[in-house]
Amino acid sequence: MGYQVLYRTYRPSKFSEVVGQDYIIKTLLNAIKKDKIAHAYLFAGPRGTGKTSVAKLFGKAINCENFNDEACDECPNCKAFLENNHPDIIELDAASNNSVEDIRQIIEQVPYAPMLGKYKVYIIDEVHMLSTSAFNALLKTLEEPPSHVIFILATTDPQKVIPTVLSRCQRYNFSKITTFEIKKRMMEILDKEAIPYDEKAVGQIARMAEGGMRDALSILEQCLSYNDAELRLEDVEHIFGLTSTEVEVDLLVKIHQQQIAETISTLRAMYEQGMDTKKLAVDLLEIVKEALIYSDSANDRLLNKISPIEAQEILRNVSIPGLLQDANNLEDVISKERQNQNFLVYFEMCLINMANIKTAKNVEYKEVQEVKEIKEEKQEVKVEETKPVVEEVEIKTNEIDQDFILKLLLAANRDLRIADLIIYNKLDLYLYEPEKRKFYQLLIGTELLASSKDAMIVVGDKKQVDSINEENNNKELYKFVNEEFGIDKMIYAITNEQKDKLITRYKATPISERNKPVYVEKYQLAPKEKTKEEKLRELFGDNLKIEE
Ligand SMILES: [Zn+2]
Repeated sequence: MGYQVLYRTYRPSKFSEVVGQDYIIKTLLNAIKKDKIAHAYLFAGPRGTGKTSVAKLFGKAINCENFNDEACDECPNCKAFLENNHPDIIELDAASNNSVEDIRQIIEQVPYAPMLGKYKVYIIDEVHMLSTSAFNALLKTLEEPPSHVIFILATTDPQKVIPTVLSRCQRYNFSKITTFEIKKRMMEILDKEAIPYDEKAVGQIARMAEGGMRDALSILEQCLSYNDAELRLEDVEHIFGLTSTEVEVDLLVKIHQQQIAETISTLRAMYEQGMDTKKLAVDLLEIVKEALIYSDSANDRLLNKISPIEAQEILRNVSIPGLLQDANNLEDVISKERQNQNFLVYFEMCLINMANIKTAKNVEYKEVQEVKEIKEEKQEVKVEETKPVVEEVEIKTNEIDQDFILKLLLAANRDLRIADLIIYNKLDLYLYEPEKRKFYQLLIGTELLASSKDAMIVVGDKKQVDSINEENNNKELYKFVNEEFGIDKMIYAITNEQKDKLITRYKATPISERNKPVYVEKYQLAPKEKTKEEKLRELFGDNLKIEE
């Protein structure tokens, strides 16, 4: 199997096959349907998120003679496109053709009518690489493009595009694709190729791809060219100089057993063998995270990287405050990697810190444990100090009226729930954002039971339910969901026990009681609610042409 074969074979040929950019596809589809096509688009976003693919599909769609949500794949335009030979869809890679002459050659052709289709579509990839004079030449054409011409400028670095060009484009921001979505797509491909796989190996590749589908597929391809009979975790680890999870768990435990010299020499040996040390740091962080999650829920389902046995081994050796400190240290060193070449030195320091801080923290932890035990004897534990989910919040639980929740359940519907699941699908993204990690911690491990127009009901264990319902947390969570996902709903948490009771009552309620509107009082956020237009502008920049 040659290099990039998978990527080419499985490049989306339809809008419905594009992964992770639903909102953009929907908006573009609307523009086509309403015949409100702009003459210049800017597709901005990280590498491998589908900018060029979507640009091409857009070019295909607007030239298709029988377009109806998707191009027909049968008309002469579609056929030419599928043969990679459409004369009016012109691609230029500005990374290698960035001179003013390269642009001039294109621009000279702009006035002529399209040869086969309705529109001439110019796709300029990595547009920020154009020279200033090339930009200026392009600008003139962008100012007054003929009606049959459409420019799609793609870039990983929109800050480097000159403002005068930016201001002429309708902007679309492509987001990183979640590990979950990448993993799902890779498994589909492997199924189609009839190649057996270890799901952990797929997960490993998805994490390495860091949000880029193209990277994921080229990593997958490299693994398959090594062994195309099967995708195995040990092969992935071997090819990319990764350490196995087993070795990593062992390393983490050793650090906390103060075996510093041994740990450091292992690390150096790995480094000399060409191991990816940044990846190791990220892996350790992931392991620490999973151990923390496991400590809170003991739920096997939430573990992707480590096994329950490994989680227990870590928890036997490292206190929870110790693990929280580890997470901080590791995050710190990972962020340094971006600016620093001396990563190994920082990483060694990080490991030494982890070994030392833990001792101090462990003493504290033991004290906390003792205090806790005494409290437990008296049966009056109020706040669990070691709880990783919420940072030292004094929990004032709002007892939620279960009759009210029942009404919400009766008003809920399945489609709303499916739409709201996006929050859970994207949750992993917030783990590495210190400012927003809190929301990851609040929601991870809970389950979205139901959604109605103005509310979501989530189910979790008692501690987590209390955290979510605590007034300040609840308000912040409401704001987070509103701002990040545009979902304006109150979030109510209930325990499994409450859920069971509610389900029984739900079943006993006549069907005529369902779908009745329920008034939900929401939090007042900023002085003024954002209008839909403002929200769109936030998404697309100031260049959005509002329809209707
Ligand atoms: Zn067609």
